[in-house]
Amino acid sequence: MAESLRIVVVGSGPAGFYAAGHLLTGVGDREVMIDMVDRLPTPFGLVRSGVAPDHPKIKSVTRVFEKTAAHARFRFFGGVEFGRDVMREELRSRYHVIVYATGSSADRPMGIPGEGLAGSWAATDLVGWYNAHPDYADLEFDLSGERAVVVGNGNVALDVARMLVLAPAELALTDTADHAIDALAGSAIREVVVLGRRGPGQAAFTNPELRELGELEDVDVVVDAEQLEAALAVSDPDMNATAKRNVEILRGYAQRPSRGASRRIELRFLRSPLELIGERRVQALLVARNQLVEGDAGSLKAVATGHRETIETGLVLRAIGYRGLPLAGVPFDGRRGTIANEHGRVIGDDGPAVGEYAVGWIKRGPSGVIGTNKKDAQETVDVILADAEAGRVLTPDLAVSDLQDLLTARKNGVVGYDGWERIDRHERARGEPTGRPRVKLTGLGEMLRIAAGE
Ligand code: NAP
Repeated sequence: MAESLRIVVVGSGPAGFYAAGHLLTGVGDREVMIDMVDRLPTPFGLVRSGVAPDHPKIKSVTRVFEKTAAHARFRFFGGVEFGRDVMREELRSRYHVIVYATGSSADRPMGIPGEGLAGSWAATDLVGWYNAHPDYADLEFDLSGERAVVVGNGNVALDVARMLVLAPAELALTDTADHAIDALAGSAIREVVVLGRRGPGQAAFTNPELRELGELEDVDVVVDAEQLEAALAVSDPDMNATAKRNVEILRGYAQRPSRGASRRIELRFLRSPLELIGERRVQALLVARNQLVEGDAGSLKAVATGHRETIETGLVLRAIGYRGLPLAGVPFDGRRGTIANEHGRVIGDDGPAVGEYAVGWIKRGPSGVIGTNKKDAQETVDVILADAEAGRVLTPDLAVSDLQDLLTARKNGVVGYDGWERIDRHERARGEPTGRPRVKLTGLGEMLRIAAGE
């Protein structure tokens, strides 16, 4: 039997787990051993700390990942940061293949004046906060104003808009962080205005997410019919079936009489943020009214009409996309915010980097839903298999220590999959008395204690 193929996956989100699952089925007659490292003691990336807590069905994909993790030739090293606790060269000398699956962990700035004022946030900050991500758990959002503004027309914009108006009774049944449940219960926000720089036909919402807004308890969804039709006046040959259905859903909202609900979400189109206004805190957002014109690539783009409006608000959340961050020593495409790659093969200055691959958002950018990563991972795995069969892999140095020994000698607080299972059981048990799926831990110290069985 040929020597086992040793593979390390950096990042334990959906892309990393799908890749690991595909790889564990073997490479020809060669067995595969997978080691997966993650910066956090907890696995599953955005499934744990990105997916909105009121979407438990989406999170149930972790059952697939749990099966992968239960495989005899799979090991998890949580609390291990690539570039700090372990370096690229150390992995290159221990594995045949490295798969980078680190996602897009940074937000994109709007690049407008006033963006640094208090009260101006990336939506990803709020998402990390309500999902109990340890890096965001201590943030404090001022929810004392009546109106919040969300910039962007993607699903993250809808997630944060919805979370800000969910009734406390709806939140209480979720795994939302306790600190967020408390803060949101005392929130004065009654209106969330969601701004799209282009029209309803160009929004990046998916249909179920847009439809769901209209099903929220005690929330009116407001769309101005005249504005909507005006924004649809320029025909868009690029509109796909999802976009067409979005338009129908939005027309439905525009026709709906107000239910007199205590909270509302207003969707406004053809509006671009120009400036956040305020002394030390945001007091208002100045926006430009746009019109649609044909862009260079044939798709419609927004250009300012010269008309402006001011929206009073103390809380502005930009939900205009994520961005990947470079990994120490790994070729990076700064323009795309991804690892430089072709079909997952990492591409350095001198061509393909033997044995190194990318998968998921750090490969293709922040697009698609969780399931999209399954197909994406398959593409990378197919390339890995072809390269492995042709012998284009790294040559591990048998004289160097195993990753486990290297990390044990180097740092405390490395969490194995059994440690995560202890955290998981603990969180679920905490949720049981109140019928919640889990009550998440937020502090790294507490996570490490529970993981160690203390
Ligand atoms: P997204 O889908 O790419 O949407 C980004 C939005 O920001 C677009 O409407 C874009 O408008 C707008 N935008 C970009 N730059 C802007 C600027 N400077 N000023 C104003 N608007 C600007 O990104 P996302 O919402 O972060 O979502 C990321 C991915 O995760 C998506 O694939 C999404 O579907 C997925 N996701 C899925 C779910 C779910 O399935 N429930 C939940 C959350 C996220 P233009 O089109 O004009 O560029």
